Amino acid sequence: MSTGNYNYADAFAKSILFYEANWCGKDAGNNRLPWRGACHVNDGADANIDLTGGFHDAGDHVKFGLPQAYSASTLGWAYYEFKDTFVKKGQDKYMLNVLKHFTDYFLKCYANTTTCYYQCGDGNTDHAYWGPPELQTTSRPTLYVANTGAPASDVCGDISAALSLMYLNYKDVDLNYANQCIVAAKNLYNYAKNYKGLSQSGGFYTSSGYWDELAWAGIWLYVVTNNNSYMDDINSFMSSKGINQYYQYHWTHCWDDVLGGVFLKLAQISANDIYKTIIEENLNYWINSVTTTPGGLKYINSWGTLRYTAAECMLAEVYYKTSNNPKYLNFAKGQIDYMLGSNPMNMSYEVGFGDKYPMFPHHRAASGWSQIETDGQPEKHILYGGLVGGPDQSDNYKDNIEDYQHSEVAIDYNSGFVGALAGMTEYYGQNQVPENISELI
Ligand SMILES: [Zn+2]
Repeated sequence: MSTGNYNYADAFAKSILFYEANWCGKDAGNNRLPWRGACHVNDGADANIDLTGGFHDAGDHVKFGLPQAYSASTLGWAYYEFKDTFVKKGQDKYMLNVLKHFTDYFLKCYANTTTCYYQCGDGNTDHAYWGPPELQTTSRPTLYVANTGAPASDVCGDISAALSLMYLNYKDVDLNYANQCIVAAKNLYNYAKNYKGLSQSGGFYTSSGYWDELAWAGIWLYVVTNNNSYMDDINSFMSSKGINQYYQYHWTHCWDDVLGGVFLKLAQISANDIYKTIIEENLNYWINSVTTTPGGLKYINSWGTLRYTAAECMLAEVYYKTSNNPKYLNFAKGQIDYMLGSNPMNMSYEVGFGDKYPMFPHHRAASGWSQIETDGQPEKHILYGGLVGGPDQSDNYKDNIEDYQHSEVAIDYNSGFVGALAGMTEYYGQNQVPENISELI
């Protein structure tokens, strides 16, 4: 296949680096970005448990449950599907470092077979602070914990999926650690299945359901164990969700809804043809019928729209692996090219990629100042690899740090983007080389 229009390998490498900017914990200064250091080293102390680690959610520093778990499972899935490309481009060590930081945190959160902590920090208190995470002194309550009285099947299902994927991705690196992950994945799955309920977030990430995350967890346990009881469970979850003969799915894989991944994997591993019909209808809907901006962007939401389109590109590329139908790959290439510069603004929406990109992503650590800069004062650091929310429905983008609906970045935004860029690198970037990160920062 011919080389594409952009250095996908470079966009791919930078998209992984973004996670080092959002790294939380005592070791946040031990990665590649010299401007990051230890932060939030007392997380969990109010609950007498060590909950340091994990990742800041977005331009803020809360560790929310659903987006954290979704990001981890989606990144793990990206690695699982495109491992060769991570290795070939020298990104496997960086990606595994990030994935292990997620699962180290989840193993701390998962206190016993019916207890899993899932939110550190309060959205309102945290958002009132502007400044580097290293200097933050506002309180960080251990706000939400799943237990028998207050279950959170959505978050626990997604964490289980992330841990199963870590088993698959890490068993050849460190089998002991991988085994720890799979034991926790099974226990969390059983807990989430037996005690059903929705997670909380203080209104910032309101969950709409848990059947999808339970099925997502079941799928990865089935992949690990080949045990048909998981497939039986999945069929029952699907029935509970009302998915029997046919189901019209026009959304995409995201922090609240992992049915995109569920349908796609079931299309690849289940004997039931219905899942193939559903995912192909979903992809065709995105290709032919979804709202499209004049500049060609598939657009389903006004808040951080690129995250959805990037995730749909990842689905299209993973489905291309087994369908070999070029229309799916062409769709993804068109959309990713838009994000990297083929758009009416003639700019890249990935910070630090190309010649023109957002200079004011809504991100406290990159800003580096003690109050939000509104006078054109540059941010102190370049937030390499962060995918901003993106343009409005008319392809316009204001490079404004306060316009967080469009200019913010987030760990969930970048997760589908990493997967999509891994696929683009695999199919179009065989001869491409990422820029040398150490020379940039
Ligand atoms: Zn932190």
